[in-house]
Amino acid sequence: MSSLVGYNAVITGGGRGIGAAAAIALAEAGAKVAVVARNEGQVVEIAAELRSNGHEAFAFRCDVADPREVRDLALSAREAMGRIDILINNAGTATSNPISRITIAEWRHMMDVNATGTFLCTQAVYDSMAERRWGRIVNIASIAGLQGDKYISAYTAAKHAVVGFTRAMAVESKGTGITINAVCPGYVDTPLTDETIARIMHHTGKSWQESLTSLLEQAGQPRLIRANEVAEVILDFCLEEALGRTGEIVVLDGTETR
Ligand code: NDP
Repeated sequence: MSSLVGYNAVITGGGRGIGAAAAIALAEAGAKVAVVARNEGQVVEIAAELRSNGHEAFAFRCDVADPREVRDLALSAREAMGRIDILINNAGTATSNPISRITIAEWRHMMDVNATGTFLCTQAVYDSMAERRWGRIVNIASIAGLQGDKYISAYTAAKHAVVGFTRAMAVESKGTGITINAVCPGYVDTPLTDETIARIMHHTGKSWQESLTSLLEQAGQPRLIRANEVAEVILDFCLEEALGRTGEIVVLDGTETR
């Protein structure tokens, strides 16, 4: 049976949504996990829940957009777990605005968290993975990393950067034992999507259900994707037998049944 026993994973944005589902999936596969976010509350809770279910889990506070905090995170996670074998670059955030209303602060924030955070965390683990000739890096991009839509140009640009970074690093890391792949989901049932629905309600006066329906229609999605469906794809990329899989960009659009 496939297993991650003996492997240590860091999951950024592991306090809720896709990151929490990924932490649970990796821990259930036997990995020791470290969940990371800017606010300690949710990651501490997830780590405690995992430990109460018999897994080894740690919680760390870190803003992935801050180079110093990411360096400290890598040190603390290594101190707690011994080494980092798996990195899930999941921390991310989204806004929506027409181009005329995007402030420079909003643009930079999208780039800093989604794109620069992915770069910084990858850089912090890469050399030690290469030394041991084993590593798994999974970047959570988005369908917005592959196509465009109105009012999300800053988020879309940042997620295209994540996809481009994944493709380039897959070539750069050939032969090192490190694989790097990306997952590109459509709308997933998480607090981030709840925020998007709340924004539609605010701007249009529609009900929650009407706003969700129009969001899905605009995206051409039959339903919201479940966070654990994304977690299954993440887990597959982390397994020992996934060595041959690198530079893959897997799209989840809610039409598949897993
Ligand atoms: P949530 O908002 O539900 O969770 C985001 C997590 O990231 C939280 O734990 C949050 O904790 C953490 N986080 C946010 N900013 C930072 C930061 N600067 N440093 C460290 N941690 C941070 O999001 P989702 O689970 O929905 O999304 C996860 C990823 O999946 C994101 O990259 C998102 O872009 C991507 N995605 C999501 C989709 C969706 O429909 N939900 C669709 C496609 C892609 P805290 O606030 O405490 O820092």
